Amino acid sequence: MSLESLISNTIRADVRAIGSYHVPDASGYVKLDAMENPYQLPEALQRELGERLAAVALNRYPPSYDGLRRKVAARLGVPAGYEVLLGNGSDELISIMAAACAHQDRRAVMMAPVPAFVMFQRSAQVAGMDFVGVPLQSDFSLDLPAMLAAIAQHKPALLFLAYPNNPTGNLYDPEAMVQLIRAMGDTGLVVVDEAYEPFAQRSFMGRLPEFDNLIVMRTLSKLGLAGIRLGYMSAAPALLAQFEKVRPPYNVNVMTQAAADFALDHLDVLNEQAALLREQRAVLSAALAELPNVTVFPSAANFILIRVADAETTHTNLLARKILVKNLSKMHSVLTNCLRITVSTPEENAAFLDALKASMAV
Ligand code: PMP
Repeated sequence: MSLESLISNTIRADVRAIGSYHVPDASGYVKLDAMENPYQLPEALQRELGERLAAVALNRYPPSYDGLRRKVAARLGVPAGYEVLLGNGSDELISIMAAACAHQDRRAVMMAPVPAFVMFQRSAQVAGMDFVGVPLQSDFSLDLPAMLAAIAQHKPALLFLAYPNNPTGNLYDPEAMVQLIRAMGDTGLVVVDEAYEPFAQRSFMGRLPEFDNLIVMRTLSKLGLAGIRLGYMSAAPALLAQFEKVRPPYNVNVMTQAAADFALDHLDVLNEQAALLREQRAVLSAALAELPNVTVFPSAANFILIRVADAETTHTNLLARKILVKNLSKMHSVLTNCLRITVSTPEENAAFLDALKASMAV
């Protein structure tokens, strides 16, 4: 028996064909590649959290997360009468939705404007759905006629709209989004992915009662808790109940439950950090706009997309200066020579700017 034939006899061809999600080793780097909040909780709060976590029982399976989910709904603006489903990051929520919507007897379709967050397509592939990406226009706005035509043609079960979008950073026109939600009607669900809501301060959450096919998904990751992995989604209770059947039991572990519960009591601190980052976004965007040969795209998120003359060389030179950003040049033709930079502290932003100037001059 060879391992090779064992794998080809057991693992699906489409899974064998894809690569695994790569997380670069960032030790020693100024890490500006993953849209993390650079700030920790203040020391006194870290200590208090440490005491809470020390008291968590690790020998038992996580208890029902009903208490936490009620607290998330109450503190994070979920409308009355709506509940949330919690996931191990919103990554897990995306795969739960894909798993629930994939069919055994025919290929179901997931759609998103592209370029989009890569986990949409990956989750579709792994669940056995077809993924249809509809290109954004060159200013990264929605191509509404193309989207409407693609919806009519493919009848997607799921349409993901990240608001604001990753990796482009812009907010789509909400009126165009409403047209898409209406066009999906009762044959498709529209997931408005609000991972960057703390930096955009725009939301569809309050509009849930208007549309039965609307799902709003968010995460605590960008707010400063990427390490605990907690995502949440809200939708009509009957719809959420269907996804609940696909959610793995105990998917939100006890440490995450305790840390999230604690963080929700200190949302003011996290919101202040988000406000600082919004200010720094304006400062960094303005400084970048001053540079010759750099195009800065408007951002409503905690990252900035720029176009440089040669992204490959600039990226390599930044790495040599221990600055880690994301090179998106090969992701999609509209992103040629584009780099994505997470907005960080004034010190890290300045270090990046200096390194960028040096990297482009090399
Ligand atoms: N949606 C979008 C648009 C994202 O950019 C990301 C993270 N890069 C996520 C979802 C996933 O977030 P989480 O950490 O909650 O899995």
